[in-house]
Order: sequence, then C-alpha cells, then structure tokens
Amino acid sequence: MTDTESTLSNARRQLEHAVANVDIDSGVVERLKHPTRVQQVSIPLRRDDGTLEVFTGYRAQHDDVRGPYKGGLRYHPEVTAEECIGLSMWMTWKCAVMDLPFGGGKGGVAVDPKTLSEQERERLTRRFAEEIRDVIGPKQDVPAPDMGTDPQTMAWFMDAYSMQEGETTPGIVTGKPPSIGGSHGREEAPGRSVAIVTREAIDYYDWDIEETNVAVQGFGSVGANAARLLDEWGAKIVAVSDVDGAIYDPDGLDTNDVEGHDERPGMVSGYDAPESLTNAELLELDVDVLVPAAVSNVITADNVDDVQAKLVVEGANGPTTFAADTILAERGVPVIPDILANAGGVTVSYFEWLQDINRRTWPLDRVHEELETEMLKAWNAVRAEVDERDLTWRDGAYAVALSRIGEAKESRGLWP
Ligand code: NAD
Repeated sequence: MTDTESTLSNARRQLEHAVANVDIDSGVVERLKHPTRVQQVSIPLRRDDGTLEVFTGYRAQHDDVRGPYKGGLRYHPEVTAEECIGLSMWMTWKCAVMDLPFGGGKGGVAVDPKTLSEQERERLTRRFAEEIRDVIGPKQDVPAPDMGTDPQTMAWFMDAYSMQEGETTPGIVTGKPPSIGGSHGREEAPGRSVAIVTREAIDYYDWDIEETNVAVQGFGSVGANAARLLDEWGAKIVAVSDVDGAIYDPDGLDTNDVEGHDERPGMVSGYDAPESLTNAELLELDVDVLVPAAVSNVITADNVDDVQAKLVVEGANGPTTFAADTILAERGVPVIPDILANAGGVTVSYFEWLQDINRRTWPLDRVHEELETEMLKAWNAVRAEVDERDLTWRDGAYAVALSRIGEAKESRGLWP
C-alpha cells in the first residue's frame, strides 16, 4: 500500500497524537478537528476567446479564538474543500506557536493558473474576491499569497475589495506589493525563518554550521531564500531541485548563481552542476540537513527508510506524512515542523497588517530584526517543551500552540 495521506487526515492525525501532551478540554479538541466554516463559491470567468468557464473557489476558516482567520489563497488544479480545511488547521497552530493574534484560514481556486492569461487571472481574482467578500475583512479574515498566487494577485484582490467597500482597505490581504501597503521582506520571510530555525537546530545539536551540508527540495520562494541564507551563514548547500529534477555538487553549489524556478523555469535542473539527480534521489542523499521546501507528502512510509539526513527541517507545508514522521521519531531523526519552520511568512504578514493599520512602513532592517526576535521566542518556547518533556519537535510545537489555544477558549467560554 502506498502512503498518500490527505492533508486533512494528516492534520487531524497530528492533532489527535499531539493532544496527549497537552492539558486541554476534550470538547475543545473535538471542536478543533472541525472548521468554523467553509465557504464554497462558483466563479464564472469570461475567457479571452469569449467563452464562459466556471471555477470553484473555497475559503476555509478553522478557528478564530485568538484573532482574525489568517492564511493563503492557492490557485492549483487540485484545490479542494478538504485540503483547505487541513491547511487552515495548520495555520491555526502556526499563528499560535508564533503567538500572533490570528486564527487559521486557507482558501483557493481549483484552477491551473498557467493555463490563464494575465487578464484572465485578474478577472478570476476580482470575481473570487467579490464572491467571498461577506466572510472576509481586515478584522475577520485576512488572505495572503500561496501556491499559484503572488503579490500582483493580492493587489487585484485588495483593489476589488476596496472598490466595493468605498475606501482603500490595505489590511484585507497581506503579501501585497510594497507600493500599496505590502511589507518589505514578506516574500523572503518563510525562507528566512526556515534558515533561522535550521541555524538554531544546528547550534542545539552542537554541530558547526561550516561543517554542515544541506539538501533543499524545491528552489522556489521558500527553498531558494532558505538555501541562500544558509549558504551565506556558512553551510554547504550540496543539492537543490525544481519540479523537473535536482542538481548535486558535494563541494557545495553557489546558490546565488543558480536561478530559482520562478526566476527562470527549468534553470535549476538545467544548471551546469557536477551531477544531476531526481527529486526522489535528493531526498535520500546522505546529508546533515534535508529541507523539503516544494510540496506536501514527499517523505512517506515508502521512502522514509532511505532518508539518510540527520535532521529534517520542513520548509513546505506537510511534506512528511504521519506514518513517515512516526518512523523518523522512532529512528531519533529530529524533524523541525512546518508550523514553526516556515512561520516567518505569516509573521511578516502580521507585521504587514500592523503597518497597514498604522499607515506606516517599516524599513527592511526592522522587519529582519523583529522576525529574528519572534522566531527565537517561538524556537525557545518549543525547545523548552522538547527539553523538559522529552517531546519531538512537532509535539513540542503542538504543545505550545494547543495550550495557548486551549487557554484562550477557556477564558472566553462558549457562546451563548
Ligand atoms: P514556489 O512555487 O515558489 O516554489 C516551489 C518549488 O518547488 C519550485 O522550485 C518548483 O519547481 C518545485 N516543485 C514543484 N512541484 C514539485 C515536485 N512535485 N517535486 C519537487 N519540486 C517541485 O512555492 P513556495 O512559495 O516556495 O512554496 C513551497 C512550499 O512552501 C509550499 O508547500 C507552500 O505551501 C509552503 N509555504 C509557502 C509560503 C510562502 O509564503 N511562499 C509560506 C509558508 C509555506
């Protein structure tokens, strides 16, 4: 049997497993297995050739006990309500681990954005914004970019919402271009946080970063930013990949010379490196650190026995299935979970939201400094759970998140 777990089932199994380590009401746990609401909408799109096509969009809102729902909008052919619910659960935990005043949301449209012209993407985005308008808002639910969407998508979304609102409303989305209230440093933030926690983990295990080699699957926004920072801090990046394949240099790649997939498609696998590998081979390299930063479900029960890395840092959301995670834990291979490692994205989104409320832009240096501070605070909170209670890093992160959520639920009580 192959190990292909759905995002929702993976998220629910992680929750069920993690609650054993937290003093939390069982009714609250039951509630947290389900979203508050999932909005499904039909989005009619006039194609450039004059024909009409209808796409399905979703917005899943998991929990908002600590603040407005927060999470990305994904344009991908495989987007489903279930996937959005699972991803929105991870956003709830991620915001709580980081102690941000947000809950979890996620949405998207089941569409392959590569098959749309720019004008079609704009029309689709504007109509999607209109269709989910009633359930979102700067104080209710704040979307952001995710797979297949980018700052331009957020700009169209913000414009569509603002036009109907009758006032410019930058706080409706984060991840906007800086010219309309986006934060400096937002784009590189998830990769930066992956690099920061990798550096902290290397230090925790008493390794020398100069002696540490790293393989990164997915040289996109998260992977390339993480790889380049770790390279700058002295680690040796021996392998990176895009969807078409991987490149490998045991002496270390020049990560600034390799262009990312988004910078120029095909440039990673087409780069002139000593060796080419498949994405599957990259995952099995004998390296110190493996950073899966592409898609979910890549480390599974089927290949986990061949994973030789001494440390896994999850750059992507949900790259390790529940079964594989259990096997890695039994083998004593630490896995720094996605909800901590890539949380720099939502953290700088929070900074952006604050800047929008205050109508005041922070310089890049301040964004970097505050991100470093927040990541270290979260890292230390999780590390305390790991050290004091002998938990895995994932269980430690869930313990921090769930106890904060449980406490908030208890303080607020149940309405009515
Ligand atoms: P991206 O599109 O910029 O980059 C993805 C990279 O992975 C590209 O190099 C692409 O070629 C490669 N890729 C795609 N499919 C692949 C496959 N099947 N096998 C191997 N490589 C493949 O995306 P991104 O924004 O870097 O996001 C990557 C992951 O990180 C996703 O899981 C996303 O949800 C997560 N994430 C992104 C952000 C963000 O703000 N960008 C924040 C947190 C988490």
